Amino acid sequence: MGSWRIATIRGIPIKIHWSFFILPLFYGLSAGSTAGAIRGVVFILLLFACVVLHELGHSIAAQYYGIPVKEILLLPLGGLAQITRMPRRPLHEFVIAIAGPAVNIAIVLMLGLVVPSLLDVQRLSQQALSLAGVDLLRDLTITNLYLAGFNLLPAFPMDGGRVLRATLNAFLPFATATSIASWVGRLFAIGFAALGLYTGNWVLTLIGLFIFFGAGAENSMVQQQARGEAQVAADVTRPATPLHPLDLVGAIESQVRPSAQPLYPVIDGPRLEGMVSRADVLDAITLFGPGTPVQTIAARAHYVPPNMSLDQVHQIMTSRHLPGVLVIDGHKLLGVVDIRDVEEAVNRG
Ligand SMILES: [Zn+2]
Repeated sequence: MGSWRIATIRGIPIKIHWSFFILPLFYGLSAGSTAGAIRGVVFILLLFACVVLHELGHSIAAQYYGIPVKEILLLPLGGLAQITRMPRRPLHEFVIAIAGPAVNIAIVLMLGLVVPSLLDVQRLSQQALSLAGVDLLRDLTITNLYLAGFNLLPAFPMDGGRVLRATLNAFLPFATATSIASWVGRLFAIGFAALGLYTGNWVLTLIGLFIFFGAGAENSMVQQQARGEAQVAADVTRPATPLHPLDLVGAIESQVRPSAQPLYPVIDGPRLEGMVSRADVLDAITLFGPGTPVQTIAARAHYVPPNMSLDQVHQIMTSRHLPGVLVIDGHKLLGVVDIRDVEEAVNRG
């Protein structure tokens, strides 16, 4: 939304958000002269290329570890390589995080080789110097140094913060490492915001706010996932009253309506015929009439083993829009897991 694809590199769409154009416009308009305006715009475009290269650094490292990259989005405050899933191996996260700033360091080194040779030209003519754009390259070198340095600060979820988490994760569990990194990140964020307010640098204040909320959001997501991985379906299984395929919805209304059971296994003797949700039974009474047998509205049974992690159970339920799943151990029906119980279990803490 509101962004254009400008290129596709290694199968990754590179998109630019409309608000990115505020930057060159701002620089163009704030320059005193036409030459100054052109220089400002050229500088922003070169900087933009460096940001794309930085994000490509992260993206190519991610692809190397088999993690697909959805897109690279360019915003005025920087780029965003959208990696489809987080690496769980500390080394992988470390390499992916450091690959971005490493690109900026490489650019600095390359410019460092080019600029001195251009500086020799400077002795020939001051005019030739500005034409060659040496000062532009010098500014670009400084900016790339700054990009590498700033991104490497351990302000999770910035690159340096991810490097910190990966390093901690080599010794500590993922959730603990994330918790520590996110607290360090939030301390940096408060520092950035305060420094921004003190110096009147509202961009720094804004970055501080983004980091503060970004660190909090990613940490709670990781803690939730950890709780989901630590618990299994059996922990939240409730006993389930079964229905018979020939039960009429009108006849079971008085049993189903006041019940909190979200899902009913449909069982004929020893056979599991399917499952039906409480909502489907109540809807069928008004839609098809009370004489509708349960078997006409029963759906294919979705079931999980009792030792499946709640994280996986939750993924199954949300991806298939299920209010619950049956829990079956071998051939034995243990009960039903309600999505609300799963969400409560992973959010608690
Ligand atoms: Zn980065």
